[in-house]
Amino acid sequence: MSQAQAPEGRAWIGLGANLGDRGAALARAVQALAAMPATRVAQVSGLYASAPIDAGGPDYLNAVVELATSLAPLDLLDALQAIEQAAGRERPYRNAPRTLDLDLLLYADQQIACERLVVPHPRMGERAFVLLPLAEIAPERVTAVQLEAVGDQRIERIEGPEWVGTVSGF
Ligand code: AMP
Repeated sequence: MSQAQAPEGRAWIGLGANLGDRGAALARAVQALAAMPATRVAQVSGLYASAPIDAGGPDYLNAVVELATSLAPLDLLDALQAIEQAAGRERPYRNAPRTLDLDLLLYADQQIACERLVVPHPRMGERAFVLLPLAEIAPERVTAVQLEAVGDQRIERIEGPEWVGTVSGF
């Protein structure tokens, strides 16, 4: 990883897991995000349970984390993918539900469109499991119209932001 330094800015990461000990997977992911170079965790949303979209399997657990980071966008994506891959070792079979999914939702006010990375994340506006936790920690980044559009999706807030400490001692 080249880890080009950018001025410190805010980035929002969507976390999801629907396999194994989902809460522990998300809490470990927050610890791994906090351990990334030139990065700290600024805020963590509450913990949500949501029905899988276009797929079967158990409910997802979801949350959104705000980072303060000097990693450039593609270096941040590299770091997120390394964390996903480390968690993915627990995959029991090919194409199994994901142990851990990390999406780069927003990077400051930047719009990015390259082969590996599109920001804002192109599907975030259609997903209650992104918009609700994001609205909790960055209400200025979510509109009432967006929230209304996902109002029919099944999602439940099951814990406040203290879930991170409850699960992992973070
Ligand atoms: P998924 O398996 O749905 O998490 O998608 C991962 C793929 O999406 C990778 O090949 C990434 O390079 C690409 N990608 C494009 N934009 C983003 C983004 N904003 N956050 C995470 N992955 C992205």
